[in-house]
Amino acid sequence: MKEMIDYLNYLTEEDKNELVKSLTLPSKKGLVLNTRRASKAVLKGYNLTQDEYDDSLFIYSSEDEKMGKNVLHEAGAYYILDPSACLISKNLINERKEIVLDMCAAPGGKTISYALKNPQSLIIANDRSYKRATELSKNVERLGLANVVVTSYEPSYFLKDFEDFFSVIILDAPCSGSGMFRKDENVKEDWSYEKVLSLLPVQDELLEIAYKLLKKGGVLSYSTCSFLEEEDEERVRKLIDNHPDMTPIDLKHEEGFYYGTINKTVHLLPSHYKNGEGHYIALLRKEGEYKENKFTSNKYRFDKDLSLYIVKYKNEEYALNEIND
Ligand code: SAM
Repeated sequence: MKEMIDYLNYLTEEDKNELVKSLTLPSKKGLVLNTRRASKAVLKGYNLTQDEYDDSLFIYSSEDEKMGKNVLHEAGAYYILDPSACLISKNLINERKEIVLDMCAAPGGKTISYALKNPQSLIIANDRSYKRATELSKNVERLGLANVVVTSYEPSYFLKDFEDFFSVIILDAPCSGSGMFRKDENVKEDWSYEKVLSLLPVQDELLEIAYKLLKKGGVLSYSTCSFLEEEDEERVRKLIDNHPDMTPIDLKHEEGFYYGTINKTVHLLPSHYKNGEGHYIALLRKEGEYKENKFTSNKYRFDKDLSLYIVKYKNEEYALNEIND
């Protein structure tokens, strides 16, 4: 029977051997410091290494430290994740007031690292699984992130009202999970090529939804924790074939990048990108002039007592801090 590694045709034999070897090593963990709650000083004495490219990201080996069982963790001083997941937030830092959709957000690594780096943005963190969205919600609350709203809808739900709306869309797609092999023995045992094939239509459908929800000039981040081109470049290639107005854009280069067979997209293989478990990341911009979202409804009023805007939407009223119009 062919194993996962046998499907990685874009790797040389030597790279395949290195990848196999790296998958026998202990997993690497990342800790994103919640600088709104704590300073680096709280991490003194722990066996952590600061990431070369991000001074609020710290790396450690799962064998050396157990940072999840710690009062600082409970207090929301940091969030633990695969450090390679942070490449998205490192590359999406913006001064603008973005309205961002994370389509498959639970348990929250990408949303949380993005929200910390972009406090001026509003992130709609969605996961279709209510159970997982509840976990995500707990994580967001633990870190005290006021710029994240957690929802639990099928991603297609947003098409009703939000076509061409979001400035940034994060799509961390469900995948066969080879980038989880070191962290979770069950994922390794459950892996099969049939599973890979079964996920391709799901990934295509989610990419199509993301395209429709993204506004002109906006950026889509497509990622998986799979090493297979089928789930990675082939999905992105299909999106670009269907929508030639989507163009891959550069990621800031880091040591260990393994560039994909689509220019500018990157595989983070644990054999090469030592601070991580494995991801594929493609950033794509939708052509066209970027325009700020304007609130065009007249169905709102300013409540002086509350000092909040009250917006009527369908039969509900919502209170907002501010409205751009
Ligand atoms: N982005 C998350 C993070 O950084 O913590 C990890 C997301 S995980 C890779 C993929 C998510 O997709 C899961 O939380 C799962 O509930 C959701 N999902 C699974 N199948 C889906 C589908 N068919 N449509 C939309 N979301 C799906």
